[in-house]
Amino acid sequence: MKIHEYQARKILQDHEVEVPMAEVASSPEQAKRIAEEIGGGLWAVKAQVHAGGRGKAGGVKLARTLEEVLAISREMIGNRLITKQTGAKGAPIDKVLIQQGLSIVQEFYVGFLIDREAQKPVLIASSEGGVEIEKVAAESPEKIIKILIDPEKGLSDEQARNAVDTLKVKQDCQERAVGVLLGLWNTFFSMDCSLLEVNPLVVTSEGKVFPLDVKMTFDDNALMRHPELEELHDPNQEDPVELEAHRAGLQYISLDGNIACLVNGAGLAMATMDTIKLFGGEPANFLDIGGGASTEKVTKAFEIMLADPKVKVILVNIFGGIMKCDVIATGLVEACKQVNLTVPLVVRMVGTNDELGRKILSDSGLPIISAQALGEAAKIAVLRAGGV
Ligand code: GDP
Ligand code: MG
Repeated sequence: MKIHEYQARKILQDHEVEVPMAEVASSPEQAKRIAEEIGGGLWAVKAQVHAGGRGKAGGVKLARTLEEVLAISREMIGNRLITKQTGAKGAPIDKVLIQQGLSIVQEFYVGFLIDREAQKPVLIASSEGGVEIEKVAAESPEKIIKILIDPEKGLSDEQARNAVDTLKVKQDCQERAVGVLLGLWNTFFSMDCSLLEVNPLVVTSEGKVFPLDVKMTFDDNALMRHPELEELHDPNQEDPVELEAHRAGLQYISLDGNIACLVNGAGLAMATMDTIKLFGGEPANFLDIGGGASTEKVTKAFEIMLADPKVKVILVNIFGGIMKCDVIATGLVEACKQVNLTVPLVVRMVGTNDELGRKILSDSGLPIISAQALGEAAKIAVLRAGGV
C-alpha cells in the first residue's frame, strides 16, 4: 500500500523524525494561506501523487512570492502529472504540499527496504542525493553503500554512525544525521514498511538534517496490524480497473498484450504468462481469481478483460485442486452467458473432475475451445490472437 508524501511526513513526526515545515492544500487559495503562515521568501509546491520523479516532470516547483504559490498551485491542482513512474495516463493531483523553502548544503539518498537475497532489511545510502538511485547504481555503484540490518537487533548506533561517516555528512551535523537514520529505521520497522525512501535527505545551511522527500510503502500482508492506515488509502491514485478488480477479490494487473488470461493462483498465472510468451504471444493482463471462483467472480473477471479493447482472445487456465473443475465449468458457462463474449475463449482445465468439466463446456453449445495441455492451449490462444 502506498501513501502520499504529506501522510508519510506525519508518520515520521509520530516517530520523532523532524521534517521541514509544510502543510497540505486542496485548493490554490488554501495553498497561498499556508505559504503565508509558513512565512519566509521561498516555498516548494509539491504535487501529491503516488509516484516519484515529480521534480523532473514539473510536479515540484519553487515559488518566491505568494502569487507564485497561487499560480503554481492553480496549475497543479485538478490536473494530472505524468512522470517516469506513472505511465502515459499520469496520476491526478488533488492536493499539493506547501513546504518551507530550504537552503540545501548537502543532499543524500537514504532508503530502507528488504534485501530478498539476504532475507534481511537493508539500509541503502548514497552521497548522490536527489538523483535517481537506479542511475547511480548503474553508473557509479561504488557511490552506494549497503548495510544489512539484523531484524532482531535493529539498526545499531554503530551502523548508523558508519553510514553517516561514509556519506561524509558535515561534521557538525553528524550526530543529527545519526538520529535521523535511527528514527527512519524505527519508522520502517514498527510500521511494517516494505520501502521507506528519503531522496533527498538534506543538510541545510542552518545545520538541520531533514528528510525532504519521503516515499513510504507498507507491506500489504501486515496491514491488519495497522488498521489506522486504512483511512490513508487514496483510491484516486489507483488504476480504476485494477481497483474495481480488487474490490471483487481479483488480483488484476493490466499489461500491454492482446491475450487475456484468467487463472486460479498467482504462480499458475505467471506460468501461464510465461507459456504465452514462449509461443510468441503477449499477455494482456495478469489475473488471479484466487481460490473460490464463483460465477460472480468469473463474470466480473470476463467483464474486466473484455473492457480492454486490445484483447483478441481469452485464455482460461484452471487447476482444480480443492476447487472442482465441474463447478468451475458451470461457473464459466454461466459467466459466458451473462457477458457478451466478443472474442474466442480457450479453456484449459486439469485436476479434480476435469473430464466432467470439459463435458459441461462442450455440452453448453458455447464456442469454447477446450484444451488439455497448457502448451496446446497457449498455442491456440496465440494463433487466435493473430499469431506471430
Ligand atoms: P521527486 O522528484 O518526486 O523525487 O520530488 P522531490 O521531493 O525529491 O523534489 C525534487 C527536487 O526538488 C529535490 O531533489 C530538491 O532538489 C528540490 N527541492 C525540493 N524542495 C526544495 C527546497 O526547499 N529547496 C531547494 N533548493 N530545493 C528543493
Ligand atoms: Mg525525490
